[in-house]
Amino acid sequence: MPRERTIFLVDGQSFYASIEKAAHPELRDRPITVGDPARKSGIILAACPIAKARGVTTAERVGEALAKCPDLVVIRPRMQTYISYSLLITEIFESITDQVEPYSIDEQFLDVTGSAASCGSPEDIALEIQRRVQLCTGVWSRVGIGPTKILAKMATDNFAKKRDSGIFTLDFDNIASELWPLPVHQMFMVGSRMTKHFIRMGLPQIGDIARLELGAFKQRMRREMKKQSDIQAEYYWQTARGIDPSPVVAGIRGQLKSISHGKALRSSLYRTLADIEIVLLELVVEVCRRCRRYGYMGRVLSVAAAETDGERSSWFSRQTTLPQPTSLTHEIAAAAHKLFVDHWSGLPLSNLSVALTDLTDDSVLQLTLFEDRAAIYRRERATDKIKDRYGSDAVIRASSLLPSGVARERAAQIGGHYK
Ligand SMILES: [Mg+2]
Repeated sequence: MPRERTIFLVDGQSFYASIEKAAHPELRDRPITVGDPARKSGIILAACPIAKARGVTTAERVGEALAKCPDLVVIRPRMQTYISYSLLITEIFESITDQVEPYSIDEQFLDVTGSAASCGSPEDIALEIQRRVQLCTGVWSRVGIGPTKILAKMATDNFAKKRDSGIFTLDFDNIASELWPLPVHQMFMVGSRMTKHFIRMGLPQIGDIARLELGAFKQRMRREMKKQSDIQAEYYWQTARGIDPSPVVAGIRGQLKSISHGKALRSSLYRTLADIEIVLLELVVEVCRRCRRYGYMGRVLSVAAAETDGERSSWFSRQTTLPQPTSLTHEIAAAAHKLFVDHWSGLPLSNLSVALTDLTDDSVLQLTLFEDRAAIYRRERATDKIKDRYGSDAVIRASSLLPSGVARERAAQIGGHYK
């Protein structure tokens, strides 16, 4: 048995609003939000606790927020500043442990298993984090503590955020008394659609899932979803029980120049566009997943291919600049497809590769894309999480979780005859 780990998920409260408050001490007692003051239809990106107490919520329209709270101060977002603060917080964490994994701009996982000797108990470390981050940035940290990433995350979202101390430990000793009585929509990754399914299945609480045998839960899921759903069932069941072997993966920001993936092919098999499209998409899926894992998005896409029919041979390597930096599978898949079709001479393929370069930090992407693309991005991260836990095949089998129609269709084909 490996030693039990101690993992933190540290979340910055009202992250951008807190940074703006620190920068504008004269606004200390005013309700403030971050959003575009010139666009009433724009979205509130963050609201300080005073604004929240007045009914303002994140992701509502600026105009609606002003109607509720007429003296609301709306501050234009300064994305680069927020990113710098996020990196500064990472550096604070790195003085405690070298295992720090940024999860979003205001959330980071830390594995502090090895830090106890020098830094004290987990609670001591959490208090020290709150003190130092507040001092350096003005942001109040909520710290969820658990033996796995999923428990640390649920400790933060369901408990630490609601306590005055901002600290909560959720582990295998208190999971049944604390987490299991909660309604199922408070479980990580359960949205409104899955909530409806679980309620119809007679599983309104997280514990209702956790207490079932896995086999029985899989069967009920299949009946409810009317399709093969074992991977999803296993994911939810493990989440309810706090099981998550995935490690905290330290970021490698700034170290990578490109993310690429290629494959040697048996050219006798890759003669038609329909067959090539499948492997092309498979390469794109892997590149995008790595991109997101390492916290990057790319601006320049390259596709390279070697072609041969046994007598003639040729190759090409072409690149295109994307309309905006991205790591979204369907966007890169569409661009890769066009590049390939425009340059393929029609001979069978013996090698194909896809690369993304001109990489930048993807916290910019998470910040600047609200609405549709942000929702897709979150879904793709959810898919990545399943892959990380169950291996690459899982996503193909869990293809219903993939966002775009093309990807879903193609992934099904990979499952059907390519793999
Ligand atoms: Mg936050």
